Amino acid sequence: MTTSSLETTAKALNERLESLDLAGRLALVASLEGRAVFTTSLGIEDQVITAAIGKNKLAVDVVTLQTGRLFDETAALIDKTEEAYDILIKRYHPEKADIDAYAARYGLNGFYESVEARHACCDVRKLKPLARALEGASFWVTGLRRGQSGNRASTPFAEADAERGLIKINPLADWDIETINSYVATHAVPVNPLHARGYPSIGCEPCTRAIKPGEPERAGRWWWENDEKRECGLHVPEAAASSIIPNSSSAA
Ligand code: SF4
Repeated sequence: MTTSSLETTAKALNERLESLDLAGRLALVASLEGRAVFTTSLGIEDQVITAAIGKNKLAVDVVTLQTGRLFDETAALIDKTEEAYDILIKRYHPEKADIDAYAARYGLNGFYESVEARHACCDVRKLKPLARALEGASFWVTGLRRGQSGNRASTPFAEADAERGLIKINPLADWDIETINSYVATHAVPVNPLHARGYPSIGCEPCTRAIKPGEPERAGRWWWENDEKRECGLHVPEAAASSIIPNSSSAA
């Protein structure tokens, strides 16, 4: 699809998705021509989406980026979720050669030393595996919500991702955390026990801390950096990600 047809399709889809509930939004995406991939980090939003896919047996591939630095609780939740919904969550791992090259240049935990080193680690452990996970996909389902941070405040239900040549679907864009919690309770969705210990947003273990009362949801991610808009590069355009990530793959 050309960029302009991607944008036209995304705009029309955005309008159709708005009036539907979560199951309806996912069912609509699953019914479209082309492969739909949902990337889960096993966070609470993603668990809600996985539950809706699993319960309704929707034709959406569920995948996760097994960075090799996840909390034990997160790794255990992958297995538990597969069992709960009788689904496969396909794991995408970083390449050993990339990890070795990173460690030789920056040190295994070099991400604390500079933003450049941190983005380089996310590139190796997340962006490159993500590119493999999205190969051949037409739709990329994510758990992004407008309320998660200031730079996600205008998240649409569907948006063109021209660099990756697909349409990104954000079926929880308009959900608040209360609605998420209510869904989890009503549907007995398995969630990461770390949420109850002050971790609303959970990434890799060395790069995530619990937040203090009153802090924004994502304040515990890469907390040593000052940039309010810090992200791992997954949810910024690839061109922008490449400009801040040395040796970044051109992903898709
Ligand atoms: S979140 Fe931290 S450990 Fe995980 S890939 Fe990014 S820099 Fe590396």
